[in-house]
Parts: sequence; structure tokens; C-alpha cells
Amino acid sequence: MPELPEVEYAAKRLRRVTGGRTVVAIRALHVSQRRALGRTAPARVRGRHIARIERLGKHQIIHLDDGSALAVHFRLDGDWAFGRADEAPPRHTRLVIDLDDGRRVSLVDPRALSTVQWYARGAHPDLGLGPDPEDKAVTAATLHAALASRRGPIKPALLDQALLAGVGNIYAAEACWRARLDPRRSAASLSLPEVRRLLSGLRKALEDGHVNAGSYRSGKRTRPFKVYDREGEPCRRCGHEIDRITQAGRSTYYCPGCQR
Ligand SMILES: [Zn+2]
Repeated sequence: MPELPEVEYAAKRLRRVTGGRTVVAIRALHVSQRRALGRTAPARVRGRHIARIERLGKHQIIHLDDGSALAVHFRLDGDWAFGRADEAPPRHTRLVIDLDDGRRVSLVDPRALSTVQWYARGAHPDLGLGPDPEDKAVTAATLHAALASRRGPIKPALLDQALLAGVGNIYAAEACWRARLDPRRSAASLSLPEVRRLLSGLRKALEDGHVNAGSYRSGKRTRPFKVYDREGEPCRRCGHEIDRITQAGRSTYYCPGCQR
């Protein structure tokens, strides 16, 4: 699933292609995208200039010049593909945006779970997102305070988009490993120094993610995961076998040898 670094990379590519352009047409090719987009959106979006692309957590907001916007979420498997409007769109294309320079932005999503929703000016949704973990306003002290009132273990808390926006299953596990913290520890029990380690571990994991974002589909990461998806393999720090447990219905990978 694309998380903060992968969505930022997608938004960057989208900015490059759509910068200064006008939408000639938007078309949903799959019933679920058609439903999410809404019946009137194609006519309202046509002819609008793309003002800017914003990433908020795992969302991409395409701001249009009349103050309306398209909110995009890739969910499990979405991604952009770029081509020409006069070519057949790639396989599993669920929605296309044709631009005034003849280029086409295709939303490719084998599972068709991505959403693109249109919002009128002034009607933008509250996405319920907490701060971006890379935002300097987030400090060990603010995160420590936010975790102090939480019930339950650290790792599921990190998946809560209201705590920190953009962190998902991969970077939550990587952050706990880098911080040498057991993902089952109660979030409220972490000391300030432990939260400092957690935040710095998360930021380092995201940094590696930015380096790798372009290759997340091919799986050929230049900086491999430390713990995610490594069940049964030796820990890169202490050599102990990596374990996989289930927390809140999701897999958590961690090292029982060095994460306390
Ligand atoms: Zn270890």
C-alpha cells in the first residue's frame, strides 16, 4: 500500500505533468470510481485550470482554479500512469484525466479501490488528519503528549491518521524497529526519550522511503526494509529471527531479540 513517501512521489509526478494545464475531460471507467466521482463532476471539472497539487497524508488534492477540488486516495494499489489521450489507456485504468496538451493522466488500480471525489468550492472535506510526521512542528514532546492519552499498543496507534498523517503498516513497523521498541508496548507507557527514538526512527524510515519511492512497484528497493515483510529472516541488528504477529487485524513484523 502506498504510504507517505510513495504518495508524495506520485504527487510530484502528477505536478510535473499537470503544471499549467487545463482539464479537457475527466472520465471514470469503472462503476465504483463513477459513483465516487459523482454524476455532475465531469461537466464541472471540464475546462478548469489545475492550480496546484497538494499531498495531505496519503491523500492527493488536485486544486482547480474555481476553488473546487478533486480528492484522490490510492487505497491499496492505485497509481498514476501518464500517456497520450489518443492512445489506449493501460490495463486496469479506472479513471482518466485528459489535458489540453494532449497528455492523459490514468488512474491505474487492479483492485479498483481507489477513490477520486469532487468537492465544490468551500465544501472541502475534513479528512481528520493529524500533522505530517516530517513537519517540524511535530516534536518528541508533542508526540509524547499525544500518545499519553492513548489506550493500546504503539504500532496500531501509529496507523491512526489522526495521530500522524501518512504513516501506514510499513513505516510504523520500520519506526518501531529503528527505535528498538516492542510494537506491543502500550503507547501511553513510552518515556519521552523513547518517543524521541520513535520519531527519529520514523523520520529515518520515511527518508529511506523517499529514496525508494520510485521503485515500490518493481520491489527493487535500493534501501531494503529493516524488518517489514522479513518474517523468519535474521534481524539486521542482532541476528534474531524476525517474527510476525497480528495487531488490530494487520501484520506487524518485529525482532523479539532487540525490540523492547
Ligand atoms: Zn534484532
